Amino acid sequence: MTQSNRRTFAIISHPDAGKTTLTEKLLLEGGAIHLAGEVKARGANRRARSDWMKIEQQRGISVTSSVMTFERGGLVFNLLDTPGHEDFSEDTYRTLTAVDSAVMVIDAAKGIEPQTRKLFEVCRLRNVPIITFVNKVDREGRDPFALLDEVADALALDVVPMSWPVGMGGQFEGIYAFETGRLMRPTGDSRAFEGDVVETTGLDDAVLDTALSPQGAALLREEAELAQGGYAAFDLEAYRAGDMTPVYFGSALKGFGVRELIEALGTHAPGPRPQPAEPAPVEPMADDVTGFIFKVQANMDPNHRDRIAFMRLCSGTFRRGMKLTPSGSGKPIAVHSPILFFARERELADTAEPGDIIGIPNHGTLRVGDTLAEKPGVRFTGLPNFAPEILRRVVLKDPTKTKQLRKALDDMAEEGVTQVFYPEIGSNWIIGVVGQLQLEVLLSRLEVEYKVDAALEAAPFETARWISGTAEAMAAFASINRGALAKDRDGNPVWMAKSLWDVGYVTERNPDIRFSATRER
Ligand code: GDP
Repeated sequence: MTQSNRRTFAIISHPDAGKTTLTEKLLLEGGAIHLAGEVKARGANRRARSDWMKIEQQRGISVTSSVMTFERGGLVFNLLDTPGHEDFSEDTYRTLTAVDSAVMVIDAAKGIEPQTRKLFEVCRLRNVPIITFVNKVDREGRDPFALLDEVADALALDVVPMSWPVGMGGQFEGIYAFETGRLMRPTGDSRAFEGDVVETTGLDDAVLDTALSPQGAALLREEAELAQGGYAAFDLEAYRAGDMTPVYFGSALKGFGVRELIEALGTHAPGPRPQPAEPAPVEPMADDVTGFIFKVQANMDPNHRDRIAFMRLCSGTFRRGMKLTPSGSGKPIAVHSPILFFARERELADTAEPGDIIGIPNHGTLRVGDTLAEKPGVRFTGLPNFAPEILRRVVLKDPTKTKQLRKALDDMAEEGVTQVFYPEIGSNWIIGVVGQLQLEVLLSRLEVEYKVDAALEAAPFETARWISGTAEAMAAFASINRGALAKDRDGNPVWMAKSLWDVGYVTERNPDIRFSATRER
């Protein structure tokens, strides 16, 4: 295990479980922001007001929502934002490839919700270790045991309660932390956590009898004993392998359990993990600088055409001005003006360590999935495209704008906003998305950024598969399926299916063609 002081993580949750509120409290706790109520300050554009807002203003770009860095107790926390919209997008998936651990926020009244489960599955694909935060215990919630059992059953994970709520809602009297024997109590009219901590030597400590109501003390002792007897003890190895999740109860809104959560990230969560790559996984302590682009964000300001490529540093010590070679173009670039989110007291750092995220301004040379390396020859793997679940035909209203449209569709395919397919027959390009919201983003950007007036129409296809096989097999397949063949942004052959049933049928009838629902970049 490395001695890195980096903790690069993401928060996954179903909408409304409290991700934004928790993010804000984590940033407050880490001293990155000084006022509550800032994260949601700009309505739908949920962005945290933080020290690098200045960079944003200077450069006229919008980056804050993507990475938030804060320091606490000698550790550097890089919190990567996963897009908040309900459509499960590729963007979220790729962001999760760039973290070393995740915090899963669950609403105590709702338990595991659909989006929680989907995001969890993504984490599981890469064995990302997960700390669970059961939020909103200040409100009436479900029985803690029922919640723990639901996490265990629904996600097939071993659960370990690390803290315990003394009652919930109106009966809420505080949170007891098993690791430290500390009892955190609500104070004042708001019943928020304002630092009222009662130190105990354990559940038998008589101080609990004065710190809690008689019912509260009895309830805590009874439940905590059951909980400690009923669940396995915390096992660091099992957690780091993604098989076990420590569970913290708390209230992001009222400030309960936030400190314990940060401390858990500090002591239990792994630093930079080895990253899957060819020809071999890259160890974080390797000397050469390597990283990969997991996200490209276009400038929100239409007057600038800069894009920011977000690189996760996987090994080596990055220095400003360094030359790195992208796997895409193969032409080295000097990274002179990296945006280093590692901001200490508003100062840009000149170096970055494995686990850190660097924003690299560029004009489209860097693409999602690109590996950047000091010495070429390594390629990170495992950033896939997902087969689209919604396909639409793009109809251009002004035919003189064909070039602009193609540029726009290619750009957005590069950014991972949408996928684009160019059919072998016919002139209407087809775009594919995983979630409905991506269509709206596409249309609005076509209009605002590219000044292209286009409409989306139903396509006769429902999904698509990347296909491969011997030249002979591909030619034979093409001869009878030409009307359903297309090429993606990179010229890879794609077969478009009328229905999921069609996928099963055609796959079965063509054993010498490989149909793939994801394509690794
Ligand atoms: P997100 O959609 O996951 O980012 O959720 P938000 O952080 O926006 O929270 C959704 C709603 O739940 C907001 O009205 C929050 O004020 C509220 N909320 C968040 N955390 C808590 C909590 O711990 N207790 C209570 N009572 N409400 C909370």
